[in-house]
Formats: sequence, structure tokens, C-alpha cells
Amino acid sequence: LNITLLAGGVGGAKAAEGLAKSPYASATKIIGNIADDDEFHGLWVSPDIDTLIYSLGDQIDRQQGWGRKNETHQVLTELKALGQDTWMTLGDLDLATHIYRTNLKHQGVSASEITERLAKRHGVSVPILLPTDDVVQTRVKTPQGWLSFQEFFVREHCQSDVLDIEYQGIEKAKPTQNALEQIANSDLIIIAPSNPIVSIGAILAVPDIQQAVEKSAAYVIAVSPLIGGKTVKGPADKMLESVGKSIDSKGIYDCYSTFLQAMVIDNLDQQDATWLQGQGLDVLVTPTLMKTPEDKTALLTKVVEFALSHK
Ligand code: GDP
Ligand code: CA
Repeated sequence: LNITLLAGGVGGAKAAEGLAKSPYASATKIIGNIADDDEFHGLWVSPDIDTLIYSLGDQIDRQQGWGRKNETHQVLTELKALGQDTWMTLGDLDLATHIYRTNLKHQGVSASEITERLAKRHGVSVPILLPTDDVVQTRVKTPQGWLSFQEFFVREHCQSDVLDIEYQGIEKAKPTQNALEQIANSDLIIIAPSNPIVSIGAILAVPDIQQAVEKSAAYVIAVSPLIGGKTVKGPADKMLESVGKSIDSKGIYDCYSTFLQAMVIDNLDQQDATWLQGQGLDVLVTPTLMKTPEDKTALLTKVVEFALSHK
């Protein structure tokens, strides 16, 4: 059995943890999102990949869902006193990750290899693959102009209207061989309940990645990031709207319609099941809010079992 999880940050990491503690852990590889990456204080920061690594390594701040537990902020406090922009909260332990990543990057080590070394440091046994080793950055067009994803998400707290979204550098990005082979060899591809536009969309937009998913013989199943027609957290709703999709299961389906076999929706969205089945999908209706470790393992185990029984 070979399982691929396509994952963004917080929603992606919850699904990753669920799989990592399920009976299917050793069959699983994760493909993460690098398009939220940005540079701060001269350091390369890769928020979604670090969220995956810290979560799977049990080093994540569980309250926030991102950053390191037992974190301090001495460096940031000093940078602020020096008059630097400090809206991006980077703790002292977290900064070590960014210093390390930046150092290795300058030495010519690939982003995939850096990810592998960081994962090893944190005892993460489920492989984390990158869709590309090149730089791709999501940009968000707002009434105030184009913002980097972190400016929109962290500095502006997702307050601005979203007029357009682009993935800068995507045309020239080369997919990694590891990601393409993993997708081609999968029996099952699970799409985490991540933002379909900026997390999963940015992975699929890397040249050849979506085509690989479409061509793969794998059974593809997506867990909706919406519960009761709303996002649990984050801007997925206004982003769906900005690309002309409805903010419901249908809108999620529209993002994945060229390759999807099944969808997992919450009990609160069960009214959408009939419509989805009408599109030829297998539909699992179940509670999808993951708060505890048990929630995560139970949901992801159920997702795999459902997929294997329908494949
Ligand atoms: P980000 O990169 O940190 O923004 O995280 P992702 O893109 O991976 O996930 C963001 C999405 O996860 C949001 O649209 C949330 O609605 C969704 N999400 C977060 N937690 C849960 C959960 O427990 N269950 C479900 N179904 N969706 C969730
Ligand atoms: Ca993200």
C-alpha cells in the first residue's frame, strides 16, 4: 500500500498526524506546500513545511497550531527595539530552524534535502516531499495592491478583500522527481482539509503535478476544510469566492473535479452528499473536526478504510 497526503499547514498537519499515528503510517508519504515561503530578516522561512515537521515531531505549540512549544522571543524583542518590522512572530527556537535552512540554502543544498534533515532532527519518520525545489510564492491581490501571502495572512490578518491570487515563479518551477514518482506510484491520494487555493492549489499548480495526479491510477479522496459551510480557521472562504467558487462542498469539489473519486464532508454538511454523489463521487459523511490526537487518528483511519473499500 502506498499513500500520498497532499497537505498545507495547520489543516494539513492535523491530517498528517492522524496518518502518522494510524495503522497506515509506514505506507504514507506527504507532499507539502512551499508557496507560503517568505524571507524575514534575511532568513528563509517555510511555514507550512515547518508546521508539518513540528507537528509530527511533537514540537508544535498546540494552542496556536504553529510555532514551537516552550518558545521564547528574545531575538524578536531585540529586533523590535532596533526598529525592525516584527509582525511575523518568529520565536528563538523557530529562528534556529530558519538560520539553518538559510545557511544550507546558501551552500546550495536543495529545499527537499533541507526538509529531510530538519525532519530527521525532529524524529519525523513519515517522509515529507516537496512539489518543487524552486522558489514559488503565492501573492494576493487586495484593494491596497499585491501582498505576499504572509503579509496578507499575518500582517493584515486576512482582513482585506481578495481580488486575485497568483503563484509567482510557477511557470519556471520544476517538479521534483520524488513527488512525481510518489504520485504515480500511489494507490491512494488523500487531500488534507487544507486551503484548496493557496495550499493544495499551489502544490497542484507546479508544472506536471496536477497532471500526475490526474494520470495516476490512485484513488483520490479529499477531506473538506469546510464544516457547516464555514472554514475552521483562515481565509479559504474568501479565497474560494475570489476565484469564483461557491463556499461549500461544491466549491471544494470544483477545485478538484478533474481527478477526484471521493469526498469526506462533515455531518453538518450532509445536505451536500446527494449532489456530490450525483457527480459520481463516493461520499463519506462523518465528524471532521480534529481537536485531539484521537480525533485525528480516528478520522484518517476511517478515510483510508473508506477509500480502500471503495477503490
Ligand atoms: P494553513 O496553511 O495553516 O492555512 O493550513 P491549511 O491550508 O493546511 O489548512 C487550512 C484549512 O484547514 C482551513 O480552511 C480550515 O477550515 C481547515 N481546517 C483546520 N482544522 C480543521 C479540522 O479539524 N477539520 C477540518 N475539516 N478542516 C480543518
Ligand atoms: Ca499555509
